[in-house]
Amino acid sequence: MSLGYTGGVSRKASIVLDQNLRLRLAENGLFHKLDLGPLEHLLEDCSRHAVAAGAALLKPGDHNESLYVVLDGELRVYLGGRELPPHTVIAVGDCVGEMSLIDGEEVSALVMAARDSELMVIDHDTLWAMVDRSHGFARNLLGVLSGRLRRDNLALVTTANRSLEFEQAASVDSLTGLHNRRWLVEAFPRAIRRCEQDGSPLCLVMADIDYFKHLNDRHGHLLGDAVLRAVAGRLAESLRSPDLIARYGGEEFAILLPGTATEEGLRIAERLRIAVEDMHLGPLTSGAVTGVTVSCGVAPLGLDSTLEGLIAAADAALYRAKEGGRNRVELSA
Ligand code: GH3
Ligand code: MG
Ligand code: MG
Repeated sequence: MSLGYTGGVSRKASIVLDQNLRLRLAENGLFHKLDLGPLEHLLEDCSRHAVAAGAALLKPGDHNESLYVVLDGELRVYLGGRELPPHTVIAVGDCVGEMSLIDGEEVSALVMAARDSELMVIDHDTLWAMVDRSHGFARNLLGVLSGRLRRDNLALVTTANRSLEFEQAASVDSLTGLHNRRWLVEAFPRAIRRCEQDGSPLCLVMADIDYFKHLNDRHGHLLGDAVLRAVAGRLAESLRSPDLIARYGGEEFAILLPGTATEEGLRIAERLRIAVEDMHLGPLTSGAVTGVTVSCGVAPLGLDSTLEGLIAAADAALYRAKEGGRNRVELSA
């Protein structure tokens, strides 16, 4: 069909309700399976509006007083901006503009013509006159609106789920499934503050796998990864429910024990050390590695109650555990 466009400039013309147009209108959308008789005069009051490919029909913030039915071509609705994929494609027979027409709010989306398009423009008064005149039209309008609401709700739910997934991905270490350091720097200070406020004790344990570089060098990084995962799982399953664990980096884990005084913290660290020592890694590593050990440094909540202070103290104790021969637990000085 030749529409005689000149660039993005649109033109208006009146509607001629010929057989071709009747058939197209009846196909779907607002005029689906309608007897157009009672609406004939109202339809002929409407105008035709051409939009060239790439031109905008509606922009966010526009005040819109019309509903547009696509007679030819295709429109696309963008919610977040042109760079993102379109939220909705409006094909022949579908309409756009009904939301701002109903609620009187400003246009919230960008609507552009994907191809040279021809639209029927129904103004506000004519739309309500059509509702008065035809039950079928009122029913179809309701169908269009509820479809739009459902689609928008779905988009909201999808967006919410995606942001949850992103949040989860950002705070979980993909190799071990433990929380990562990014999560730790948010969650640990909160737990420390709670203990401080309650006046209850707390210990931080830093646990580091012994001679892990050697294991990697000897058996390869993939086997190293499998061992790292197994140790992470073993440590996590050996903890009580209020305890927090995160992969601090490399083969080092940070464990926070709320409500735990020094003696108890040392006992728990010792239990973790033995839990790792007792692991049988033969089946996991096809016999290449029989076991690994960890060294632990324990720091109780003291004068310096910052996370950085606790980590520094536990790290210093860990260093002494390494110096002292590894596979052992040391308390901060
Ligand atoms: P130490 O007993 O003193 O802790 O010695 P170490 O060899 O365990 O410590 P070092 O810091 O020298 O080496 C740590 C090694 O951990 C080096 C690095 O390749 C390995 N590593 C860190 N992250 C990963 C990982 O995600 N996967 C694997 N396979 N290896 C890792
Ligand atoms: Mg190590
Ligand atoms: Mg290390």
